[in-house]
Amino acid sequence: MQMMQAALLEAQKAYAWGEVPVGAVLVHQGEIIARGRNRMIEMRDPTAHAEILALREAGAVLQNYRLLDTTLYVTLEPCLMCFSALVHARIGRLVYAAADPKTGVCGSAFQAQDLRFYNHQFEIESGIMAEESSQLLKQFFQEKRHGS
Ligand SMILES: [Zn+2]
Repeated sequence: MQMMQAALLEAQKAYAWGEVPVGAVLVHQGEIIARGRNRMIEMRDPTAHAEILALREAGAVLQNYRLLDTTLYVTLEPCLMCFSALVHARIGRLVYAAADPKTGVCGSAFQAQDLRFYNHQFEIESGIMAEESSQLLKQFFQEKRHGS
């Protein structure tokens, strides 16, 4: 899967920077228009999740805060903050790789799709390249534990 491959590349960059390896790309009309990776430590910003940074970049590219007809590919199931941002952005579709039992809100830790006050819905797909994505995360946390 080409787009998820690109998201995984972003996750690998995050890894190299010592950030929890999560990456995202936003696709519009078949093309990647924005990329993001976790940069919370680097930017000293608790909201600098891969998804948020991809949305910010896409807004600048499309010159619009509404990112209609876009698909976000992200290597890990989004957290509640990112899910909310995706709703605000009015994206068309979300594709994520690995499930996140701790903070994933697309069915793992919570089911944000069911929140009635959200007035926008998008398609959700998951599981594409899940193995590669979770392997990268596992490796990262293992390295941390062994005190790199
Ligand atoms: Zn998030």
